[in-house]
Amino acid sequence: MKNSYNPSPQIATNIEPASRPLPLNKTTFVQRNSRVFQARESWDRLFDEAYRADVEIHTDSHDVVIYGHASILGFASPVFRSMFKKSRTKHQVLIHGVPLEAVRTFIRFLYSSCYEEEQIEEHILSLLVLSHAFVVPQLKRECEYQIEHRLLNVDNVVDVFQLSLLCDAPRLGIICNRFILKCFDAASTSAGWKAMRASHPHLEKKLIVSLKNENNRRKEMMRKLTDRKVYLELYEAMEALVHICRDGCRTIGPQGKVLKEEQEPCRYEACKGLESLLRHYFGCKLRVPGDCTHCKKMWQLLELHSRICTDSNVCRVPSCRKIMRAKSITGAPYFTLASS
Ligand SMILES: [Zn+2]
Ligand SMILES: [Zn+2]
Ligand SMILES: [Zn+2]
Repeated sequence: MKNSYNPSPQIATNIEPASRPLPLNKTTFVQRNSRVFQARESWDRLFDEAYRADVEIHTDSHDVVIYGHASILGFASPVFRSMFKKSRTKHQVLIHGVPLEAVRTFIRFLYSSCYEEEQIEEHILSLLVLSHAFVVPQLKRECEYQIEHRLLNVDNVVDVFQLSLLCDAPRLGIICNRFILKCFDAASTSAGWKAMRASHPHLEKKLIVSLKNENNRRKEMMRKLTDRKVYLELYEAMEALVHICRDGCRTIGPQGKVLKEEQEPCRYEACKGLESLLRHYFGCKLRVPGDCTHCKKMWQLLELHSRICTDSNVCRVPSCRKIMRAKSITGAPYFTLASS
């Protein structure tokens, strides 16, 4: 039998650290644990043996009655408490729409705050509903935790999504929404989806709208990533261009300087392609933007460089000063970038 919910480590890390408890020696710790275990066993026995029980709980299984104690149930749930206010003698409670074993697991939890692992796995959705309906937050949190971390799957996600709305569990609703968007094809063919379409068509529409929004968000993110990649490539090309014309690289030396035979390995990825483009540019007979695609590309880079060049008077990049002067005369770019 498992103890009730412990806060998840994720949540715990955000909380102010609690003051450190006094250290327990091993014997005290074992004794304390053993006493807690015995106490829980006693509560379980009280429930199982129904000693002096004064509450009868009836479910859809008409031949079986679950017995309980008004004082314990009323103490654990304000809903039970208000039910039992009406009379002081034997109480009868009717719980419909959930399996008998789910009700039994629920009532047992009110006694000992414990549950069987298999029971909670099998009846998790019923227990979520019961804990919400009878206002037992400890069990409700446990159900939400178990669903979120262990029990959510393609087959039950649509049902859980609907229950999260009915049971006022917003975090679970968000988790389900994300889950559905991740496996939309599988979720939208599940039995739960078909039932939702029949009973709550507006929820289906809501999920389809959120799928469209998510797709748009992803497209926008991809566009931004592509833009950023292009920007970085251009930035590197600009850096490499200045470096080739100022320092020289593998095959091109700067004007007026002899290229060193033993160059250190170049740190610019763009250098290799840029060198061959520059060599072509210097030797091309057409050299007219628009007539030669290679030269057009080179012109675009040169024009872009001139826009960001800080001092064209000392700059060694070809045509930098020329383009800058043309711009200052006409007020327009010397050569317009195709993408701009
Ligand atoms: Zn280089
Ligand atoms: Zn050319
Ligand atoms: Zn320049």
